[in-house]
Formats: sequence, structure tokens, C-alpha cells
Amino acid sequence: MTDIAFSDLELKPELLEAIHKLGFESPSPIQAQAIPPIMEGKDIIGLSETGSGKTAAFTLPALQMIDTELNHAQVLILSPTRELCIQVCEEVHRLGSQMQGLRAVPVYGGTPIDRQMRQLKQGAHIIVGTPGRLLDHLRRKTLKPATIQLAILDEADRMLDMGFREDMEDLLGALHNDHQTLFFSATMNKHVDRLIQKFGNDPEEVSIKRQTKTVSTIAQSYYEVRNRSKVEVLTRLIDMDNPRLAIIFCNTKRSVDECTEALLARGYAADRLHGDISQQLRERTTRRFRDGKFELLVATDVAARGLDIDDVDAVFNYDIPQDPEDYVHRIGRTGRAGREGKAVSFVFGRDIYRLQSIEKYTKQHIQREKIPSQEEVEG
Ligand code: ADP
Ligand code: MG
Repeated sequence: MTDIAFSDLELKPELLEAIHKLGFESPSPIQAQAIPPIMEGKDIIGLSETGSGKTAAFTLPALQMIDTELNHAQVLILSPTRELCIQVCEEVHRLGSQMQGLRAVPVYGGTPIDRQMRQLKQGAHIIVGTPGRLLDHLRRKTLKPATIQLAILDEADRMLDMGFREDMEDLLGALHNDHQTLFFSATMNKHVDRLIQKFGNDPEEVSIKRQTKTVSTIAQSYYEVRNRSKVEVLTRLIDMDNPRLAIIFCNTKRSVDECTEALLARGYAADRLHGDISQQLRERTTRRFRDGKFELLVATDVAARGLDIDDVDAVFNYDIPQDPEDYVHRIGRTGRAGREGKAVSFVFGRDIYRLQSIEKYTKQHIQREKIPSQEEVEG
């Protein structure tokens, strides 16, 4: 992946041993570039796409600085969802497997706080939590900010999208002035930037560019469809292709509701995700989708950003997104790991201009297709 070896990064032997056991051959680009400045004590902004190894990029230097002899929290990791807290905590345990007496604890909402309080009171070196629940622990004084030397924001963009800004600010504001802060994110936007401006201490930016904006294994096409015919065309295409799992992206909550209800009324196994649905229900829906309990997930961009699903057979742009970056995010849910994926967009009238700006942005052609007739679908 890079010319740099893990052994060049001045990590302690216990960490190199764990890396070796995990079978990681060399650091990924974000790891190679972010780990040295973090180990020098700098605040950093780490930007790289999903799946690029951001977790180890912050976990390795975090483990490097922890003193397991001390019985208090030294590193705080903020993560948007319960599932991600668990995943990050697992990675901490894997990478810290050779460190004697290391304790890392995940804390998230939706489960009783008492057990977490006991765990924290027993002493944890690393706490990984969702902002809301961490704040709860801060108020109950089971999280003591004075000993935290390193605060890490994982998926800062998603946490902000999910409405955690105030909780994040309260947490970061409660920490000691001389702590180090790492801002990790898949994307950069003005909300992330504002947070960095407020809480970063002369941060260094490490940004890894995606190789190509869209993956070449995704077949991209579009159909000219009027609004009132969208459901009809969508169901024809689904009937023809029979995707195992597909995500249908809409631009608004209303569009999500209308599309989902139309699909359900026609007997399709569909469900929805948007910002008015509670996080708990969104997580449940996500799990059910991943387990194949239903086939068609209808979602807005923001709701889908909280999803750990990246291997669907087809992505439909029921509404064409305004921002080409959203298009890239949407269709990146399919065609992963060299598998074939399909991205289909519906456009009408002036939407064609959005499509053109997407083609310009991604430097890829989107093929126009003819709407199949009912006979073709049945044939
Ligand atoms: P991100 O947070 O950027 O989306 P993750 O940290 O979840 O990505 O990493 C994605 C996967 O890659 C994980 O399964 C992780 O264990 C693995 N991974 C991370 N670093 C390396 C590496 N240097 N070599 C091989 N696999 C790695
Ligand atoms: Mg991650």
C-alpha cells in the first residue's frame, strides 16, 4: 500500500507484535501519514474514505501513549453509533492484545447505564462512546475529564449529521486545555470545519485522496422518468433485475415516505430510513436489511450516512442529488471489492443538468437507457 513499514513508525514492540498477528503487512496511506504527527503530539485532521483504515490510524498512537499502570482514563474516543463504538473497541482490543492489563470500555445509549458506571469506576484506559452517553457519564462524574490526554473524534461528519454537535461541544469543552485532539472524518464540510476551528490547536491536515471518484465496476445508467411514473419504472426495473438488496435514494423525507408506501402497497419488501425516525429504529432497520429481512431500503442521504452497508447489488437515485458528492457516496454502496454493481438514476426535465455536473465531477459517462415495456419485463 505504501513504501513505509510499520517498523518505521517507532511503535512499541507490543504493538508491532499485535499488528503482525493481525496480518497487516504495511500501513495504509492514512496510517502512514497520520501516525507520525499524532505521535509528536500534534492535533490532526484525518480525512480519508471509508474502509481506508482510520481506526488503526488513531488507535495505534493512542495505545502507544497509554500507561497501563495508571488506573484512569487517558483516551476518549467519540463515535456516532453503538455499532461503531463496539467495532472501534474491538479494534482497540485487537491492536492492544499484547499490552498487559489494557482496559477499553464502550459506552453507548439504549442500554442501562449502571453496568457502564461500574465498569468505568473500575478504571478504563480508553473509553469509546457515543456523544450523548459520554456526556451522561460526564455529568454523573463516572467520566473524569481531567485525566484525558487525547480526545479522538471518529466519523466527525456523521456525528454532526446525526445531531450530536451540542453534545460534542460540551464534551470537548469540558476537557483539559492541554489535551491533544484528533478529528477523523470521511468527508470535510463547513460543520466539521467549524468544530475544528473551535477545538483544534493548530491542527495539521492529513488528507488522502480517493483514487477514482467512482468505482469502475459500477454500471451507471439513467432513465428519463416523470415524477408520477417513478414508482412504475422502479418496480419494472426491480422485477427485471431481481436485486438481492437495493437502496433507493430520495432527496426528501416526504419522497422517502411516498416511495416506501407505494412499494409496500405493490407487495415489495421495503422499509425506510430518514431523519424523523429514531436512531434506535434506524439501527434496527439497518440490521434487518443487512440480514436480508427485506430487500429494498428507501433512504435520504443523511440517514444513509449512518449505515454500515456497502455491498448492495443496486443503488437507485429515485431523486437525483443536488450535490455530486452525494451521488458518489450513494453509488459507493454498490460495486465494492471488485463485485459488479448497478447505479440507476431517474431524471426529468432540468434534472439533466444535475446529471451533467455529476458526469463532469466523476469524469465518468452515465448511459441513457430506454424504459423497458411491461412485456419486456414479463418476457
Ligand atoms: P475506516 O474507519 O477508514 O472506514 P477501518 O479502520 O474500519 O476503516 O478499516 C477497514 C478494515 O481494514 C478493517 O477490517 C481493518 O481491520 C482493516 N485494516 C486496517 N488497517 C489495515 C492494514 N494496514 N492492513 C490490512 N488491513 C487493515
Ligand atoms: Mg471508521
